[in-house]
Amino acid sequence: MLENLERVDAAMPWFFPVWVFLLGACVGSFLNVCIYRIPYAQSVVRPGSHCGCGAPIRWFDNIPVLSWLLLLGRARCCGRRFSVRYPVIELLTAALFAGSWLMHSPGVAIAGMVFLSLLIGAAFIDLDHMIIPDGFSMGGSVAGVVLSFLVPALHLAEWQQVGWFPVDSLRSGLHGISGALIGSGLLLWIGLLAEKMLRREAMGFGDVKLMGAIGAFCGWQGAIFAIFGGAVFGCVLYAIGLIWRGIFGNRTNGEGASGEAPEAGEAGAKVDGTTSRPAAFDGEAEAAPGEIPFGPSLAIGAALYFVWAHGWVDPYFRMLTAELATF
Ligand SMILES: [Zn+2]
Repeated sequence: MLENLERVDAAMPWFFPVWVFLLGACVGSFLNVCIYRIPYAQSVVRPGSHCGCGAPIRWFDNIPVLSWLLLLGRARCCGRRFSVRYPVIELLTAALFAGSWLMHSPGVAIAGMVFLSLLIGAAFIDLDHMIIPDGFSMGGSVAGVVLSFLVPALHLAEWQQVGWFPVDSLRSGLHGISGALIGSGLLLWIGLLAEKMLRREAMGFGDVKLMGAIGAFCGWQGAIFAIFGGAVFGCVLYAIGLIWRGIFGNRTNGEGASGEAPEAGEAGAKVDGTTSRPAAFDGEAEAAPGEIPFGPSLAIGAALYFVWAHGWVDPYFRMLTAELATF
């Protein structure tokens, strides 16, 4: 079986990456539903995808990316516009899945697909509502620790493994747990210090809990990269956002124009304990102007580390720990 798969991979190196890309597009399509419904505590399964006018979306109009392009971003039933964010999230998920597959061994790549899906969901919900649901942050932390035990290669390079499953599994699991604790603890302390200095709430607990998931999947090295790298990328993106708004005005069609958006009025009452900061969420308002969610920046830093940057970041951390060990 495995041999056959290896033969396929050798004969057609594009075969698996293409399938992983298509899988990513489908998962991205499901993430779109999660991003719009989970903040309102609605089921992500029922009812099926439907347009803002109430008409169900047929399967052939619900093909990731392609349907949006074929219909030029309009609904077949009533012609209302669907946000360009739908195909963008589908393409983003597809690209990250393919990247994870090409950069890692299959086990790590599959764990990475779980991780990247959680990051995309958390980032866009945080962008819309300034909350990160516990299912993504705490659920992600648990998933990360469990997968650390199951997939030792998640934290141990080939040369670091002894090749004996229980030992490697235990060492990798401890890397996952320590990564979660160091990641969330570090951000908690940064947030507390910033709060003292700025004399106002500087960081939400949702971000701290999300760092638990990032540390569990990426180890403490990835957690540190996500916080500081993420802060840098966050500033760059914020500047781009300001320039964009300055040129094009504030008329980007957000979720109000999209088909999945539930009616805000009835949804407000449904928000319950599944959210990390329900007090800051009144069910209809978007992020307050001037407030920037930190979750998307953390997610960008973590995704960059996991898919690409770990290769050149980790040697620096090894130099650092070797230096510290000489004390
Ligand atoms: Zn419609």
